[in-house]
Amino acid sequence: MSCICVYLGAREGHDARFREAAVTLGRCIAERGDTLVYGGAQVGLMGALADATLAAGGQVIGVIPHHLVDRELAHESLTRLIRVDDMHERKATMAEHADAFIALPGGIGTLEELFETWTWQYLGLHDKPLGVLDVGGFYQPLLRFLDSTVEAGLLDASTRGQLVAAAEPNVLLDRLMAPADTD
Ligand code: AMP
Repeated sequence: MSCICVYLGAREGHDARFREAAVTLGRCIAERGDTLVYGGAQVGLMGALADATLAAGGQVIGVIPHHLVDRELAHESLTRLIRVDDMHERKATMAEHADAFIALPGGIGTLEELFETWTWQYLGLHDKPLGVLDVGGFYQPLLRFLDSTVEAGLLDASTRGQLVAAAEPNVLLDRLMAPADTD
């Protein structure tokens, strides 16, 4: 059993596939017997993911700072809701629980969380896998930009290769949770 940390939008976005993907990922996490850890909100894609995981019988841990309890409507029906003092403690608490990280479509909050987690991995502070769920090609422009960063000599190819991308939740989870290559 693994704990999957998911970063995603506090809004729903305009494309109905974002919400569908959040619901499918939540079901997959529950069906695999994994636990979801996320930002603890009831709003947007975050709420859709948590509700779908719970509805499929899964365990959900939410981590929310006191100052966002009202703004993001803390989800009161989770397996566990952890209230923390600030954004830094939120990310650290989510990361401590996680065995792997996934970003779904989201805004600057999602991107900030994804990049901080990736840079922590790059700096050797953890070795947990991370990836993006590329719903409807949402992440393609960012992935292309990262490739151009490698071409520009500002990012090494092995670090770039650590960011896994897949369009289907189960495919992404399988790839992230596959045993590491030891040769
Ligand atoms: P967004 O992708 O902008 O809709 O935000 C998704 C989630 O990320 C929301 O719960 C935000 O509160 C959260 N968030 C935004 N910035 C940060 C941060 N610096 N650290 C932790 N969570 C954040």
